[in-house]
Amino acid sequence: MRVSSKKRKPLFTKINGQYYAKVNCPDCGREHPVSHKNYYRMKSFRCIKCSQVYSAKKHRDPNRTYHRGGYIQYYRPENPMANARGLIDEHRLVMAKTLGRSLKSSEHVHHIDGDKTNNNSKNLLILSKSEHHRLHGTIQEKEKRYATA
Ligand SMILES: [Zn+2]
Ligand SMILES: [Zn+2]
Repeated sequence: MRVSSKKRKPLFTKINGQYYAKVNCPDCGREHPVSHKNYYRMKSFRCIKCSQVYSAKKHRDPNRTYHRGGYIQYYRPENPMANARGLIDEHRLVMAKTLGRSLKSSEHVHHIDGDKTNNNSKNLLILSKSEHHRLHGTIQEKEKRYATA
């Protein structure tokens, strides 16, 4: 398909059969080429280097929330309860605050209403690993019974 000369933006130059526009990175100000395809897809014209820095920073934002397996997490690398990536489950943070101490890895936090995102302290129950597994076992048993009844 021919791109009509009316539609084609003069800022694109043909390099190796592809159209490129020269744009300036909003972070470092460096000029770099962006293909015609990417030009209309990109949300910002950050250069590769600056986008890497940007996403790394975004990932380390302590105010940002993360979702993994339906749970809400925060980046808190200084917290002893954080995992290797520095992330910590919100329900564990809430429970630790309620108890006034850090939770041990053997202590599980259960969501009473089954909603993993409802991290209100009233919805949380501290259990040992075995108690927690037993509880979920009985919940599943019950559901199975209801399903077949
Ligand atoms: Zn840049
Ligand atoms: Zn549970």
